[in-house]
Amino acid sequence: MPVLVPTTLDEAITMLADAPGSMVLAGGTDAMVEVNAGHRRPVEVVAINRVAELRSWTYDGAAATVRIGAAVTYAELMEPPLAALLPALAEASRTVGSPQIRHAGTLGGNLGTCSPAGDGLPVLAALDAVVHLASARGERTMPVSEFMVGVKRTARAADELITAVTVPVLDGWQGYSKVGVRNAMVIALATACVAVDTPGRTVRIAVGSVGPTIIRCTEAEGLAAGDVDFASRTASAETVSRFGALAAASSRPIDDHRATAAYRRHAIGVLAGRLLRRAFPNE
Ligand SMILES: Cc1cc2nc3c(=O)[nH]c(=O)nc-3n(C[C@H](O)[C@H](O)[C@H](O)COP(=O)(O)OP(=O)(O)OC[C@H]3O[C@@H](n4cnc5c(N)ncnc54)[C@H](O)[C@@H]3O)c2cc1C
Repeated sequence: MPVLVPTTLDEAITMLADAPGSMVLAGGTDAMVEVNAGHRRPVEVVAINRVAELRSWTYDGAAATVRIGAAVTYAELMEPPLAALLPALAEASRTVGSPQIRHAGTLGGNLGTCSPAGDGLPVLAALDAVVHLASARGERTMPVSEFMVGVKRTARAADELITAVTVPVLDGWQGYSKVGVRNAMVIALATACVAVDTPGRTVRIAVGSVGPTIIRCTEAEGLAAGDVDFASRTASAETVSRFGALAAASSRPIDDHRATAAYRRHAIGVLAGRLLRRAFPNE
């Protein structure tokens, strides 16, 4: 199959417009698995990893946001200076695959695949990130919650390129946790990201691997906002326990060959409670 290698964003967009059925290839850590397994037979490939605009990121201090190019890798996300700005995304990135996968795999590819087990996605959902898409028809931007529409289904049109994600930088504790059958090279059975916005007096929680897409646990968020003390970082044992229970109740897991729904739901309760306790260490 022909492999086109654009070096500018405009070139990449034109190539996709000329052949909308092309497969976009970033790190290839999902795409090539599908091709090798015979699940995908692209007529043409547009390999984007030489497009500098997609491989870079910028921090806007005034807006308190980081715009991350779609082809930025986990290896870059997990180290300073990005890790200092977006600690939960760094933590999630460190859990992805192996060093090889983290050097090749990209955040845009995680969004493109949109697996409920994608490790970057709960963080993007908890932080209310925004996805940027571009095609020859123009550009559009949407909340990550609208971009993810189902199991491995997104709002991206065939001729669109994910160009970047804009992620708010919050003032407050944030963290990510994952349960799998072992500690590395594992598809998550349950994941959770908790992010605190101290000046805004909100606690966000998003969970993964327990529904068709990432789920925001709004009832747990409401409980935490009312019950914790943001100034002294205090939460009662009862708040932590109810937070976990409400997060578990928001999850919609299924039984499959990796784990039962009951186990996954229990795991979400444990992860959510632990993360809230780390965010609010005082009782
Ligand atoms: C051994 C192994 C271990 C893994 N472990 C983990 C893990 O622990 N956690 C995890 O979340 N994932 C894991 N993965 C999956 C994979 O590494 C991630 O989903 C990664 O983020 C994919 O990024 P990529 O750049 O390789 O994407 P690619 O494979 O290049 O692309 C993935 C999909 O997104 C599309 N795409 C990519 N970039 C764009 C773009 N800019 N615009 C539009 N469409 C685009 C592609 O067409 C394709 O459909 C693992 C994979 C392997 C092989």
